[in-house]
Amino acid sequence: MRKLTILGATGSIGLSTLDVVRRHADRYRVYALTAHRDIAGLVHLCAEFKPEFACVADESLLDALVLALHEQGSDTVPLAGARSLEQLACAAEVDVVMAAIVGSAGLAPTIAAARAGKQILLANKEALVMAGGLFMDAVTQGGASLLPIDSEHNAIFQCLPYQNGSQALNLDQVGVRRILLTGSGGPFRTQQRTSLVNISPAEACRHPNWSMGQKISVDSATMMNKGLEIIEAHWLFNAPADRIEVVVHPQSVIHSMVEYIDGSVLAQLGNPDMRTPIAQALAFPERIHSGVDFVDLIKAGRLDFEAPDFERFPALTLAYAALRAGGTAAAILHAANEVAVESFLNNRLSFLGMTSVIEQTLSEVQSAAVKSLEQIFEVDAEARIVARRFVERGSH
Ligand code: NAD
Ligand code: MG
Repeated sequence: MRKLTILGATGSIGLSTLDVVRRHADRYRVYALTAHRDIAGLVHLCAEFKPEFACVADESLLDALVLALHEQGSDTVPLAGARSLEQLACAAEVDVVMAAIVGSAGLAPTIAAARAGKQILLANKEALVMAGGLFMDAVTQGGASLLPIDSEHNAIFQCLPYQNGSQALNLDQVGVRRILLTGSGGPFRTQQRTSLVNISPAEACRHPNWSMGQKISVDSATMMNKGLEIIEAHWLFNAPADRIEVVVHPQSVIHSMVEYIDGSVLAQLGNPDMRTPIAQALAFPERIHSGVDFVDLIKAGRLDFEAPDFERFPALTLAYAALRAGGTAAAILHAANEVAVESFLNNRLSFLGMTSVIEQTLSEVQSAAVKSLEQIFEVDAEARIVARRFVERGSH
């Protein structure tokens, strides 16, 4: 019986994880569930999964959580705050941590789980973008094992000769030439850039193939999601920028590929449903049912591939540049992106303004060699201030 802490249990990935867990009550037991502010969602999950702990990240909501669990007659212990998130990620009883908090808030508890040597199922790509080097060091030093949940990285993981989740692969030693990171191109793949000026948050969140949280949906529309994934792939697979190629594949049937020096290309296919990568990582190296329908290739009919349009989607160029610049550049990119996405969702920034704000922030904030997590948080705070100033200045 493996005991799980699910960070971000009330979100899209959290709920998909619990759906897989629900199908395998004989293998997995939920130790702790966490949420940001959604008390009703959290308490509802506690009624079904009966975790030992439930934690709300926003401390001001502790009383509300205590009351709601009490009214339900629940035995689950209520907790609140960022420190509690970290404790639940490192608790001795926990075997597996699903890192499914969105954005920078996920970094501290996920790195704590790495230091504590847990098996980490990593959905929170932002943690790697912000502090990939420090994160991978924590995984190695803590003896943790890392299994990617992001569908592309999970696909790449499946196409590489991994024996267990933690070993660092040397791509040359295993004969890999390139990683082919596929992306659907988002909802605006075929639209002219000029026609994107008046895109609303609702339009941007309507992804053609995947149903996801708001932030990643907006990131997919600008293709910054693919940009963040390039950086994520760099850290996970120890791959330099020029060996990670983005391939647009509108049907989202292939989730990514690995090209070998002998000319072989291995791909992982499946329906676009995150329960497949979640089940693969939960059971690795075994296989379990995920609840996902089996892919019907005859119905799919055809698989198309296109080169990405770097002019229409400058986020890709920005991400490659940040990766090549190294140091804290990716942390700056990520912080500016979070501010830009939040401003767009609040109707304070236009769709096209998002990448301008990120570009301006990257040219204003100096990148430096990475020294510590504290420094990353300082750079993150500085980049946010600068990005907010660019948002307020308008003209986007
Ligand atoms: P979501 O918005 O649906 O859920 C986010 C979860 O994090 C919620 O449980 C929320 O309560 C919690 N949370 C939000 N802010 C928090 C804070 N400040 N402190 C503590 N908890 C907080 O997001 P999602 O779509 O499930 O994405 C989660 C992560 O997985 C993201 O990093 C995303 O990039 C990644 N991911 C998601 C998908 C997908 O299909 N949804 C696919 C690949 C990767
Ligand atoms: Mg992805």
